[in-house]
Amino acid sequence: MTEGMIFDIQHYAVHDGPGIRTLVFLKGCPLRCLWCCNPESQNFGPELRHSMVRCRACYACKDHCTAGAIREGESGPLMDREACGVCKTWPCVEACPHGALAVMGRAMTAEDVVARVAADAAFYENSGGGVTFSGGEPFAQPEFLEDLLLRCKVLGIRSAVETCGHVPEAAILEIEPLIGLFLFDVKAMDPRLHERCTGASNELILKNLRALAERDASKITVRVPLVPGYTDAEENLSAIASLTAELGIAQAELMSYHELGRDKYEGLGRPYPITLQDPHPLSAQMEAALRIFRERGVACEIGGE
Ligand code: SF4
Ligand code: SF4
Repeated sequence: MTEGMIFDIQHYAVHDGPGIRTLVFLKGCPLRCLWCCNPESQNFGPELRHSMVRCRACYACKDHCTAGAIREGESGPLMDREACGVCKTWPCVEACPHGALAVMGRAMTAEDVVARVAADAAFYENSGGGVTFSGGEPFAQPEFLEDLLLRCKVLGIRSAVETCGHVPEAAILEIEPLIGLFLFDVKAMDPRLHERCTGASNELILKNLRALAERDASKITVRVPLVPGYTDAEENLSAIASLTAELGIAQAELMSYHELGRDKYEGLGRPYPITLQDPHPLSAQMEAALRIFRERGVACEIGGE
């Protein structure tokens, strides 16, 4: 039985695949997208999140920290993120009387995760739904993901995987037959733009997309984040749409940029990575972006949360 690192399980979702779905978020990602709305997904290990909204600056946490990782600040605790986590037991979380501390990430067995997924089975049957493994990057924990998928298959639960594609080709192709739907992110076609936005070239991602499409393009939905000033240029969208059509992929989704994850960065002690002049794409721009895909024969919708 395998064990992996999970940071959230959400029930009754109506996005990230058809029907009613359970979303399982695996921790750890090889990319650092500037617009990532789940910064707690990026690191592979568990980490402490602090809520300034809930915090009452009582410093009970400081008294229980065995690593000396908490100091008193003017308006709340100051965390030494390098030192934090060595305790492995998170006593500060228990000690906080206001629920202002939480651990992001916990080890779970595949058996326990799938038990949580299977509890929603009645909803999948009636809606055509299933489970979606997201992240983070699910393929970054390949043995755990394979175990999860196999267990779901035995129970007749349809599985989707959301991937950034920046993983070894063998990891994706080996597990591919167990997956009914790939939500495959394609962010930028220019390698330099891709590296500026995510910290890595798109070479491996596009190679994996091609390899998967050669196997079965009907299982792929290409997902494109529309980030003003970064990925929303017509040139970029046209290049992605053309590749999507060329590979025989019939579905795409545009994911509108939002800043719902901003507070999470503060809670993890990290700066928000980008500042946009106008963070909200106009509806006319969204329409134009949809048209770019539809003109090439790709069914394209607005997707996401
Ligand atoms: S998680 Fe552990 S090391 Fe970090 S602040 Fe809490 S008690 Fe200290
Ligand atoms: S124990 Fe909780 S409320 Fe008190 S300072 Fe620490 S985080 Fe804030």
